[in-house]
Amino acid sequence: MQARIYDAIVIGAGGMGSATAYHLAKSGADVLVLEQFQRGHTFGSSHGETRIIRFFYDKPFYTELMKTAYSEWRDLESASGKQLLFITGSINIGESGNQYVTSVRQSLDAAGVESEWWDAKQLAKQFSQFRVSNDMDILWQKDTGFLYASECVLTYLQVAEKHGVDVREEMPVTRIDWQSDIPIAHTEDVQFCGRKIIVTAGAWTSSLLKELNLPLTVTKQQVCYYKPSDIAMFEPERFPIFTEITSENEFMYGMPFFGKNGVKVARHGMGQTVSPNTCNRAPDSDYIQRMDTYLRERVPELGNTVDTEVCLYTETPDEDFIIDAHPLCPNLLIAAGFSGHGFKFCSLVGRIMSELALTGETTFDISPFRINRSYSV
Ligand SMILES: Cc1cc2nc3c(=O)[nH]c(=O)nc-3n(C[C@H](O)[C@H](O)[C@H](O)COP(=O)(O)OP(=O)(O)OC[C@H]3O[C@@H](n4cnc5c(N)ncnc54)[C@H](O)[C@@H]3O)c2cc1C
Repeated sequence: MQARIYDAIVIGAGGMGSATAYHLAKSGADVLVLEQFQRGHTFGSSHGETRIIRFFYDKPFYTELMKTAYSEWRDLESASGKQLLFITGSINIGESGNQYVTSVRQSLDAAGVESEWWDAKQLAKQFSQFRVSNDMDILWQKDTGFLYASECVLTYLQVAEKHGVDVREEMPVTRIDWQSDIPIAHTEDVQFCGRKIIVTAGAWTSSLLKELNLPLTVTKQQVCYYKPSDIAMFEPERFPIFTEITSENEFMYGMPFFGKNGVKVARHGMGQTVSPNTCNRAPDSDYIQRMDTYLRERVPELGNTVDTEVCLYTETPDEDFIIDAHPLCPNLLIAAGFSGHGFKFCSLVGRIMSELALTGETTFDISPFRINRSYSV
């Protein structure tokens, strides 16, 4: 009997893989998804209730791509009948003349996305929860919000399955044979053939594609949750997304009270290098202390950390994604290295991967994400 050949096999059912499966299936492809754990697991990068979605970036190509990413999230909401995207607006805080906030403003202007400079008085009028000094730069952007992240992943898989996608859980791929015309994904007991294989394996990408020696570093990241006594003051209607570059050059961010965990505040990056298989997922007390100290000054009503969560970043040296074909095999596609800011792009990356798999090209500019770039910072 001849082996079944899928149009596409997606390895990994996190944010990127689930969105890719949906877009492929919507285009009529015959798709298999192989996931090493159960859907919705907490060992990778896409779990937890919230992820920020924003236009603001200091690199203009991301701001441009976000225009389609937003509309693709709305498409998922229409396809599923669920609200997954919540708009709150955002404030970027930085010391006066801060390079990052200035570049963000320039990117937004270049893309025709409105933003406004506020002073401390205006901030106090709109959001009295914050304490900032008069000399700080504050940039307001009204379209920022958050995605109900864990639900987005489950929803992509559900709608993909409605379109006929076969999702197999607890099916780790041990090896990919890409030397033949039809690549093969090997699991412990079974082999699957696909005209295209798409690797969306997050922190496990390097171990699956050892021969490429990809410049990926996996780091442990932690987030802290807060339960203020006046919860209503921190609900999405009354509290925005905020980010801040501190005087110690830390990138702090926070978001409103949502779901069962509360207000989420974290420091982007600066995590310890780990292996995804052996990472100690216990909370780190120094980190909690730093976040609590920071908030005592900036948003004192939040109090102290009541809960934490650990998640993994898969970072490239320049913090830009890798979206490309394997240099030696055009039928093996890779989406990786989302460097702690990829979730908002899942909706677009899914579409791009589907276009690349089904037509060999994409209508979006993915030149910054080439696998063989210099990665210079
Ligand atoms: C704390 C934290 C906060 C973040 N905040 C934001 C934010 O506010 N906004 C934003 O845009 N982004 C944010 N991100 C980044 C974003 O969440 C990630 O970029 C994104 O989730 C990456 O998705 P992924 O599909 O590549 O990885 P994952 O979700 O980890 O998915 C990879 C999947 O592949 C599976 N897999 C791996 N190897 C195999 C194999 N051999 N066989 C079968 N399956 C396999 C894994 O089990 C996993 O399910 C944050 C990340 C973290 C950790």
